[in-house]
Amino acid sequence: MIEFLDIHTHKTATKTGITSIQSLSLTNDIFLAMPKKKPISIGLHPWYATIDKLELQMKYLTVLAKQENVKLIGECGLDKLNGERIENQILILERQIEVAEELNKPIILHCVKAFDELIAIKDRLKVKVPMIIHGFNKSEELGKQLVVKGFHLSFGSAVLKENFGAAKLIEELDNFYLETDDSETTIEEIYHAVAELKKCSVDQLKALIFANWKKLKLV
Ligand SMILES: [Zn+2]
Repeated sequence: MIEFLDIHTHKTATKTGITSIQSLSLTNDIFLAMPKKKPISIGLHPWYATIDKLELQMKYLTVLAKQENVKLIGECGLDKLNGERIENQILILERQIEVAEELNKPIILHCVKAFDELIAIKDRLKVKVPMIIHGFNKSEELGKQLVVKGFHLSFGSAVLKENFGAAKLIEELDNFYLETDDSETTIEEIYHAVAELKKCSVDQLKALIFANWKKLKLV
């Protein structure tokens, strides 16, 4: 049976039937106990990454990201409401993109109120590895723009909300991922809501998303 894929969670997987990619930030000491087998993503979260610790943390990232179970680099990204000033966040993100490109691993991105900057970075660096924007909960229009620019989108618990702006986009889109992030909503609930939007069965949705995941050459 095809499993649910939770492409971005901060929790440790406990249930069977779910492939989840736990996201760990090297800005705390979690890497000392980094899992060696379970699929994970590692990066410097924009809320906690600082310029003064960047060189040291990049040293760790460069080495640890090579581990086979590190499927994605991140979450990393830009956030205008938290963390370092945006110029510094851009520097920190660009360094992580370099690592992802070198290892040919996709990037999982956090982006708050900085989509123009994010698009500019992708254009300027001509990033070749897939860039997945996690927790997308903005408008259909912005979502379409990002897809046209070559970004991949991942949707989380926001899909359950009445006023979820990108519902129409999900209806039309086939290349996307689903996630729980740090929410209490289960991945099953999110799949059910999205299957309803797409007027397909949960099994069909599982197959679709696993096919997308395979296209990223990760399994
Ligand atoms: Zn997250």
